Amino acid sequence: MARKHSKGGWREDDEAEAAEAAPPPPCWLCGRPCGTTVVWHHPVPKSRGGRDTVPMHAICQNTLITNFTNSELQRAGMDVDVLLANPAVRKFVDWVANKDPDFNASIAKKGR
Ligand SMILES: [Zn+2]
Repeated sequence: MARKHSKGGWREDDEAEAAEAAPPPPCWLCGRPCGTTVVWHHPVPKSRGGRDTVPMHAICQNTLITNFTNSELQRAGMDVDVLLANPAVRKFVDWVANKDPDFNASIAKKGR
């Protein structure tokens, strides 16, 4: 990883490697590495003045949106433990723990 060339050109190499080897950030909710798609979620909804974002799986963000109102999300803020204390979320995280990082159930697509 940290190999450097003493001559010119190391910078290019570094960039290429960084792009390729950058590990996906861990999901804020379930703690697994994010897959190819990283959703930048606002723990405090944007409409409530939230500015911070955290990396999440789409499916995990969906779980939050399904189980909490904006007011509840605002109250929990950056404290993911509050969200994990919700039995439905806890159950989801335990369930999704063994899934592929790119796994995305069609929960958002049902009912058309
Ligand atoms: Zn996740």
